[in-house]
Amino acid sequence: MAENVLQKIIRKTGRKPSVCKCQACKNQCRTPCLGTPHDILKLIEAGYMENLKPTYWCVGLILGKLNYSIAMVQAEQTNEGWCVFHKDGLCQLHDLGLKPTEGRLSRHDIKPENYVFSKGLAYNVAKEWLDSSNFPVVQEIFSRLDVLVQVESELLGHS
Ligand code: SF4
Repeated sequence: MAENVLQKIIRKTGRKPSVCKCQACKNQCRTPCLGTPHDILKLIEAGYMENLKPTYWCVGLILGKLNYSIAMVQAEQTNEGWCVFHKDGLCQLHDLGLKPTEGRLSRHDIKPENYVFSKGLAYNVAKEWLDSSNFPVVQEIFSRLDVLVQVESELLGHS
């Protein structure tokens, strides 16, 4: 059977689904976790478009590992500095089965000394937005949000 996107990211990162509720894990929800294009389309279809916004993933650029940023749509951050889906210490999306992939696989135990960029969870989720097999979904998302994003054709091979 063909490997799905979640299985691919688990294989590439070595991460496993986590339901850890320690304070360090909860604090990760200050910055919205990243979803793949399929994760984000599911949120739109579930009626959460108002909680999403276009953005760029620039971590690879800032770290000097990539020479481009990645255009995507992700959950908003509130003025109070939390992910818009974080309510009363919990993820609103968890019980709905709609939690984005980074949130599903993230744990508090990644330290700078054992961080390898190419195996990084955020990077492996982010680059799904450049995978040509996901382009129909990406285009659907951008058209639903009425966003015009120019993607360099040379980036399409980065997967
Ligand atoms: S979507 Fe859920 S798991 Fe992800 S950052 Fe927001 S509250 Fe946390």
